[in-house]
Amino acid sequence: MPNDMSSRPTILNTVAGRHFLQTPGPTNVPDRVLRAMDRAPINHRGPEFGALGREVVGNLRKIFQTQGMVAIYPASGTGAWEAALINTLSPGDTVLMSHTGWFSHLWQQMAGKLGLEVQMLETDWRGGADPAAIEAALAADTGHRIRAVCVIHNETSTSCMTHVVPVRAAMDRQKHPALLMVDAISSLATCDYRHDEWGIDVTISGSQKGLMTPPGLSFNAMSEKALDAMKSAKLPRSYWDWAPLITANQTGFFPYTPALNLFFAMNEAMRMLLEEGLPTVFARHERLAEATRRAAAAWGLELQCTDPAACSPGVTAIRVPEGHSADKLRAVILDRFNMSLGNGLGRVEDRIFRIGHMGDLSPLQLLGALGGVEMGLLAAGIPHKAGGLQAAVEYLAR
Ligand SMILES: *Cc1c(COP(=O)(O)O)cnc(C)c1O
Repeated sequence: MPNDMSSRPTILNTVAGRHFLQTPGPTNVPDRVLRAMDRAPINHRGPEFGALGREVVGNLRKIFQTQGMVAIYPASGTGAWEAALINTLSPGDTVLMSHTGWFSHLWQQMAGKLGLEVQMLETDWRGGADPAAIEAALAADTGHRIRAVCVIHNETSTSCMTHVVPVRAAMDRQKHPALLMVDAISSLATCDYRHDEWGIDVTISGSQKGLMTPPGLSFNAMSEKALDAMKSAKLPRSYWDWAPLITANQTGFFPYTPALNLFFAMNEAMRMLLEEGLPTVFARHERLAEATRRAAAAWGLELQCTDPAACSPGVTAIRVPEGHSADKLRAVILDRFNMSLGNGLGRVEDRIFRIGHMGDLSPLQLLGALGGVEMGLLAAGIPHKAGGLQAAVEYLAR
């Protein structure tokens, strides 16, 4: 059929080619994953789903590096945060959190609304949680009022990591009985994460970041100790209750209708990750992150993360010089070059922009994204030095 252009309205500023989704979640969904979910739902109580459910749970265990139980919820990551707290804690219990960025702030607010007492350790949002501060708080807690230590593995809002092993070691040194809960929503499948070996009691994660799947699924992985805590936990719970999920999951089924098409999608995504091999996936993320940091350094722009050992493999938050607007830069980049970047949240609103480099991404795609940022810096009149893209090219060409 001939294309009758005359009947179409004139659209200005259209940009041919693919949109660059460089947000740190949702991330690019690979074509294989899109194809896998493009099908009719199946009977979630039939044999085909049982096999799928078992494969999904089995693969998720491999990604969490756990032999233990995992729960899958039809919810974004926030739902799994809630599930972690209400399945293990009772009204008035104290949780120890570290204010590492916007997501820690949201988790704190949720805990408060659920009737928990939150003891918050402040940080400057430019590094991870401080294991020494956590240890001091636990040492002072001689009555063991603190029932859980909660940390965010990758604070997506600041691009700063909290390394979990030193936190566990601090808890062990103090022989403190609190549970260790880790938000690995944006770190899972971007860097090494060992639920069992690292002694984590509840890990929380979600589908739309490193797992290359659309938003809508989230997870808990639980230790035996967390399952024990469940037996005496008194916060009200029904839909989020681990117990019926655990019973049904043994056979691959769910107590309610699972998000079937997201199961098709995530199963394919996990197959892809396991085919690539987790160590290769992690190394790929580290390489793209390093290229991004080199570009920022060449531009003469400051990273939000000031601790080199805490820089995220999945996202890089970059500060704009004083007196300039990161939001205006992002708006110019979206309008002119059809690329979405992450914005600054909370106290860094308009001060930073975030380049997501997690999930399904190649060096060429990253160079496209960095080229878009460099053009945007020029177009928006943000003071910077030339050569960021070149620095990334030289690094990635090795
Ligand atoms: C994205 C994210 C969340 C929130 O997850 P939703 O899927 O948006 O509910 C929580 N914590 C971290 C670290 C995140 O990156």
